[in-house]
Amino acid sequence: MAVNILAFGPNGSGKGTQGAIVKDKFGTDHIESGAIFREHIKGGTELGKKAKAYIDKGDLVPDEITIPMVLETLAKSKKKGWLLDGFPRSKAQAEALDKSLNEAGMKLDYVIEIVLDREIAKQRIMGRRLCANDNNHPNHIAFDAIKPVEKDGKLVCRVCGGELSARADDQDEDAINKRHNIYYDTETGTMAAVNYFKKAGKAKIISVDGSVSIKEVTAAILKELN
Ligand code: AMP
Repeated sequence: MAVNILAFGPNGSGKGTQGAIVKDKFGTDHIESGAIFREHIKGGTELGKKAKAYIDKGDLVPDEITIPMVLETLAKSKKKGWLLDGFPRSKAQAEALDKSLNEAGMKLDYVIEIVLDREIAKQRIMGRRLCANDNNHPNHIAFDAIKPVEKDGKLVCRVCGGELSARADDQDEDAINKRHNIYYDTETGTMAAVNYFKKAGKAKIISVDGSVSIKEVTAAILKELN
């Protein structure tokens, strides 16, 4: 049976790490809007070129680019369902997603929300590293459980030994602040999208405290998934 999940949490809340665990539990696709953009940028596509300027500044990529890109990816997803991460990020995107799911006769099963204080989220962002081989390999210089390992005097991925890099938008405080302004905005931003799905009452809402250890957050989420 297909399981469809939305994952919410500010940048730095561990949403990607937890999302990877949850998608493994159900065998769903892991659809990350930010990762799709990064693939396009790496591949030098037209969409990537258009998106890059926004992403580097921490601005949202316009809806006319983002919404069709994500909805097309969802439509192509395999039978086991999907875990959607990074979308919707605004009330308008939440409405577009809800409408599209209704039209496709797709059911939303769970909405996972990782709750985390803004300052803590910011500190966490600056230490995370991306693996060149798999962006689901968690690496963070400040957390023992997912610390990169040293090889030939260089820090490499703790899972596969792959090369690590920091995202440019993770090292830029203005960009981080902008992304958080969007996330914590309850009028039109991502919190408005979270509240939209809370109010809609169609899916089971799982809100967990993101300030505890990775293992504890995982346990709190898994307890609520059935
Ligand atoms: P993320 O990897 O989720 O932090 O996304 C990186 C960047 O991609 C964001 O800062 C935005 O510029 C862009 N992006 C990702 N998802 C969306 C979305 N749903 N709507 C607009 N822009 C997005």
